[in-house]
Amino acid sequence: MTERWSAARLRAVKQDAPIIGIDLGTTNSSAAYVDETGKVRLIPYQAGTFIIPSIFAIDDKGNELVGHEAKRQWQLNPRNTVYASKRLIGRRTNSNVVAQMSRQVAYRMKDEGGEVLIDVGERTFRLSEIAAKILDKIRSVAQDHLERPIDKAVVTVPAYFSDSQRQAVKEAGSLIGLEILRIINEPTAAALAYGVGRNVHERVLVYDLGGGTFDVSIIEIRDRTYEVKATGGDIFLGGLDFDEALIRYVLDDFRAKHDIDLSRDPVAMQRIKDLAERTKIDLSTRTEAAFNIPFIAMTPFGQPLNIEMRMTRKLLEDLTSHLIDRTLETVAAVMVDAGLTTKDIDEVLLVGGQTRMPLLQERLTRYFGKPPSKTVHPDEAVAIGAALYAHSLQDDTDLRLQLLDVIPMAIGVEKADGQMHVVFPRNSPIPNAKVLPVTTSYDGQTEVAIRVYQGDRPVARENELLGELVLSGLTPGPARSARLEVTFDVSIEGILRASARDVHTNRAVTSTIRLGPGR
Ligand code: AMP
Repeated sequence: MTERWSAARLRAVKQDAPIIGIDLGTTNSSAAYVDETGKVRLIPYQAGTFIIPSIFAIDDKGNELVGHEAKRQWQLNPRNTVYASKRLIGRRTNSNVVAQMSRQVAYRMKDEGGEVLIDVGERTFRLSEIAAKILDKIRSVAQDHLERPIDKAVVTVPAYFSDSQRQAVKEAGSLIGLEILRIINEPTAAALAYGVGRNVHERVLVYDLGGGTFDVSIIEIRDRTYEVKATGGDIFLGGLDFDEALIRYVLDDFRAKHDIDLSRDPVAMQRIKDLAERTKIDLSTRTEAAFNIPFIAMTPFGQPLNIEMRMTRKLLEDLTSHLIDRTLETVAAVMVDAGLTTKDIDEVLLVGGQTRMPLLQERLTRYFGKPPSKTVHPDEAVAIGAALYAHSLQDDTDLRLQLLDVIPMAIGVEKADGQMHVVFPRNSPIPNAKVLPVTTSYDGQTEVAIRVYQGDRPVARENELLGELVLSGLTPGPARSARLEVTFDVSIEGILRASARDVHTNRAVTSTIRLGPGR
């Protein structure tokens, strides 16, 4: 789509092209911008919807499909249709998330030196390449709507995203020449959508339950300053798990009735998954829904079998209330981290499609003693907040928005005994820098390797490996004679860099980071 812009036209309109805000979601993405009159607008796409499914596929003719086109053919082509890839981005093959995902999805993943690759059609893609396809689609929709080329964006990620996941998203942008000026956290963006232009002085809790992840953040808004007090989340919890509970119920019922395990039939599974999600969504506004799928399987005698069930809201609630309990446990933990009680929260903001579930809203109302705010739209707030922030970056007045964020999970290094030495505790404010003294451990050592991890587990290896920092070219000497200092810097976007210095000579030490996947 970008090629449609001639160089001359590009120059002519480049000056006034807005920086768009992109909500790169697990299931759906959307984008917004601030128009000439200062009004924030979602970018419409196809027949009045604002969302682009975050799905990439290759059809049997080799065509690449993104968004609605990819979603439409998903049932017929499940092996070559990649969805929920945001759960995988920036993760190593040996992570629990990857193991869990490979059981849930029909597309094929493989390992290359610890990096997850996905086979689609005849080709193999890195996760950042898939994110790039989705970003490119969003950009082309924005370009068509605004009739201007777009080359800059602010992109949101879950607050819980680790350093390597943030890096992978940035890389996705650079693969398509889209400069991601800033990565901001989804809950912070939602708080911006709530607060900007209203001179708010409040403490809000953002409860964000989307397709794949759960995020909760407590944010203090003081007019144009947004300060995150604490954040937490559950990367294993999202709308997909609610679907999964319903799917499991249907499979068990079918097995009990016909002694057939449908979970081994990918096409049947796709049909069940699709209807399970639609039924779950229906049950947010109705109390009952039919669950019928004709010709789902055959008896050994060649007779077709159908699924014919009635689902009720009550049943869905019974099957999923433990998932809501888990979110409330995380909310409680984040409140403890922030040193606050429910009385200290002025408003609860809901983000993510799954928060439309009535039971979830009832439980939150009971927990906080007041209903969640209706001010922000759960599907739109994140893109709107990103656009408001993008606009403020264009503003060179003192009206700039100030975002003060935190590190979502501890960052540390592995000690000799395998334990994690925490350099930045969870919820440390960013930007931030810390110095770590390092020495040699044996005589004549000329190289020191330090493994850097992110996560809250005490054993380093149970956390996510961010990379290995190698300090080389050291002057050989007795053990423990070297005095080195490694400075770890976490940028305002939560991205980590490291540099090292020899204290004796005050010279920089050559340091390279052998990085994890996605960089
Ligand atoms: P998001 O990532 O914010 O787009 O959230 C998508 C998730 O929200 C998916 O799991 C959807 O099934 C779910 N969802 C969307 N609408 C509803 C609804 N009305 N009730 C319950 N869940 C919904």
